[in-house]
Amino acid sequence: MENERTAAGVRTENGDGGIETRQAPPRREAAERPVAVGQSQQAETRGSAPQAANAEAVGGEPGGSFRTLGLSAETLAAVERAGYTVPTPVQAGLIPRALAGVDVLGQARTGTGKTASFVLPILERMRQPGRGGGPRALALVPTRELAVQVKDEFEKLAHGSGIHCVAVYGGKPIKGQIDKLAKHPAVVVGTPGRILDHMSRGTISLSALDIVTLDEADRMLDIGFRPDIEKILRRCPESRQTLLLSATVPPPVQKLATRYMRDPEIMDFSTNELAVETIEQRYFTVDPTRKFELLEKLLEREQPRQAIVFCRTKRGTDKVHDKLARRRSRLPDEVACIHGDLAQNVRDRVMRAFRDGTVKILVATDVVGRGIDVSSVSHIVNYDIPEFCDDYVHRVGRTGRMGREGVAFTFVAPEEGSQLTRIEMRIERLLQRDEIAGFEAFDQRPRPAPVEMVPTGGFGRTLPSAEQEAAEPAKKPAASMLGKGRGPKRHRRAL
Ligand code: ADP
Ligand code: MG
Repeated sequence: MENERTAAGVRTENGDGGIETRQAPPRREAAERPVAVGQSQQAETRGSAPQAANAEAVGGEPGGSFRTLGLSAETLAAVERAGYTVPTPVQAGLIPRALAGVDVLGQARTGTGKTASFVLPILERMRQPGRGGGPRALALVPTRELAVQVKDEFEKLAHGSGIHCVAVYGGKPIKGQIDKLAKHPAVVVGTPGRILDHMSRGTISLSALDIVTLDEADRMLDIGFRPDIEKILRRCPESRQTLLLSATVPPPVQKLATRYMRDPEIMDFSTNELAVETIEQRYFTVDPTRKFELLEKLLEREQPRQAIVFCRTKRGTDKVHDKLARRRSRLPDEVACIHGDLAQNVRDRVMRAFRDGTVKILVATDVVGRGIDVSSVSHIVNYDIPEFCDDYVHRVGRTGRMGREGVAFTFVAPEEGSQLTRIEMRIERLLQRDEIAGFEAFDQRPRPAPVEMVPTGGFGRTLPSAEQEAAEPAKKPAASMLGKGRGPKRHRRAL
C-alpha cells in the first residue's frame, strides 16, 4: 500500500545538506511495523519460553528470503547456520545497497538486526581481494560490551570463512590487542578511544580500509566520541565505503553523515513508535524502605526467565546484588551485578554468564542499558525510577528483543510521581498499575507535581567513572521531550 510508505522510506540529502525522503523502501515490508507481536498475544505467551525468534516477528515478510539480497552461497550458508531464516526489514533494505558499494545510513530501532545488516556486507567485501597492509574493515562502536557483541555476531556469521575479527576496547591491557592486531585481522571492531590509541602507537593502520561502519552512531555522539570519530574518519582512505547505523538520527548524526559519507542513502526503518511500544509496562507505588522486599516478592511471583534490575547508583547496585545473592533459596551464580566500577574482565565475565543463561538476575546501572542484546531477557525491573526519560526507553528496550515477549516494572516512591508522569509523556502511554499483597502502601497513584516545576536531576546520582559513564553529557529536561502536540495539561487530564 502506497501510503504505508510514510512510516519508513529511503531518504537522501537534498542540495542544502538537509535530508528528505526520496523514494519508497526497496522492499515493501520495510514500511511496516517492525514488531508484529501484539499486546494480547504478549500477555498470553508471557511466562512461556518461545523458541528462537525469527525475523517475521520484527516485520520481515513471511517468505522473505536472504537469497534475494545478492549474498554469495558461502554467506547464505553462514546465515542459515546462524539460524536466520528471514531478513529483518533493515537487513532486507540495507544489504543490497551496501553490496552495491554505496554509503548507507540505516535508521532502525534497537533489536531489529542492524548488526548483521553491516556484518554481512563486510563479509562479502572481505571475500574479494583487498590492497593489503592493514585491516580492511573497521566498525566503531560506543561501548566495550558492544564491541564484544559485534565481534561475536561477526564470528558467528564468518564461521568457516577464515576471515578474522579482533575487538579492541579500553579497560583491557593494550598488549594483548597489539599482538592480535599484529596477526593482520581483516576486520577490527573497537571503541573510538582505543582505536585512536592504537593509531598513535602505530599498531593499527587505516590505509587499507575498504569499509568503515559507525554502529550506534547516536549513542557514540551522545557520550562525546565525536572528536575521536572525526579524527579516525579523517585518516581513513577517501575511497572507502561508509555505513552508519543508528536508532535515531538527530542533527549531529546528520552532520556527521554529511561530512564524512559520500552521497549517503538514508534508509529509515523506524516508525513513529518508540521501541518500548510493544512491551508490557507496569508500575508499583512503594515506600522506598520496602523496595527490596517488593523486589523479592515480585521475582517470586514472576519467576523471570532472565531479568535485569536497574539501580541508579553503583553503590545501590552492589547493595541490591549482595542482598539478593544472600538468599539461600537462590544459587549464588544466578545473581550478578555490573557497573562501571568493576574491572573490565569482571564485566566481560558477567556479560558472558548472562548471555549464556547462567546468570538469571543481573543488577545493573545504565551502563548496560544501551544496545546490549540478550534476547531471553523476559523482565526489566526499574528498582530506582530512571532519572532521565531516555534511560527509561533504553532500559525497557532490553526486553522484548526480536519480537519476544517482555514486561517491565517500575518502582515509584510517592515523591517520584512526577518522574513517572514525564516517562509516560515521553512514551505517550500510561503505565499500568500493579500490586502485590502487603504492598498496598498507597491507594492513590502518586500525585504528579506540575511538570513545569519539577527539578530535573539530583536524586543522589553518583559521579560516573566508567569510560562511557564519564562522558555522559547533561541531558535535556523532560519538558523538551514532550511528544508532538501532547502538552503536559492534556496528559495530566489523561491521568
Ligand atoms: P540492533 O543492532 O538493531 O539492536 P542486533 O543486531 O543486536 O539488533 O540483533 C538483535 C538480535 O536479533 C540478535 O540476537 C541477533 O542475533 C538476532 N537476529 C538478527 N537478525 C536476525 C534474523 N534475520 N533472524 C533472526 N534473528 C536475527
Ligand atoms: Mg546494534
